[in-house]
Amino acid sequence: PTEDRQFKRVILKLSGEALREPGSHDNISPEIVERVAKEIKKAIKSDVEIGVVCGGGNFWRGASASARGMDRATADYVGMLATVMNALALQSALEAEDVTCTVQSAIEMKNVAEPFIRRKANRQLSVGTVVIFAAGTGSPFFSTDTTAALRASEMNADAIMKATMVDGVYCSDPKKNPDAKRYDSVTFADCLSQDLKVMDSTAFTLCQDNDIPIIVFDINGEGNITKALAGDDIGTMIHK
Ligand code: UDP
Repeated sequence: PTEDRQFKRVILKLSGEALREPGSHDNISPEIVERVAKEIKKAIKSDVEIGVVCGGGNFWRGASASARGMDRATADYVGMLATVMNALALQSALEAEDVTCTVQSAIEMKNVAEPFIRRKANRQLSVGTVVIFAAGTGSPFFSTDTTAALRASEMNADAIMKATMVDGVYCSDPKKNPDAKRYDSVTFADCLSQDLKVMDSTAFTLCQDNDIPIIVFDINGEGNITKALAGDDIGTMIHK
């Protein structure tokens, strides 16, 4: 599986944090969102169908709010609403680049986004529309990584591209161990046996059970999103 990365349909997972300029008070950096949109546009030329799952951590994380006393389910709903703001920002930036796109929200809010309808999303993807999946799974106690795993499974995507702040999966924490080795590819089983953290366990298990490879790559390098989406060799691929 490491050789053939000519994916027909992929889910790009963008963490909320990736849309924020490090050190800035602004939750969303319009410049970063514009760069992401431009890179997605370039990838479309390689004929790959793209679904995007936006995180919300640049605004809010349910678990942190809950640790500070808020009811967990309510805090998670706030987190899901945060992902909608990122989705709308990305939609706007994609439209500015003339990329046909739509936002489908797992929590209905018809004034700002379409509701998530699986068969409709499937059709939109198959005609080349970029579908941005907002509001996570629509259920508390899950993450947007789990959302990416779920949408990838039900949309029959060939892979999840997880854009992160690190350039792949290492044998140990590269911040603590300068000699840590980065894997080009690693199996789900090895991730589990070596306790390598790729995604939360719910998301990871869903990918493993449904045989959906995950590609972890650094969002910050110029052109990396385009490369990942186009199936170029980048980051670490986690596979069966
Ligand atoms: N969330 C949720 N259910 C979901 C997806 C997300 O409750 O299906 C909430 C959860 O509180 C989470 C927040 O939305 O902390 C933001 O999502 P996430 O932390 O996954 O964003 P990221 O870390 O990717 O920016």
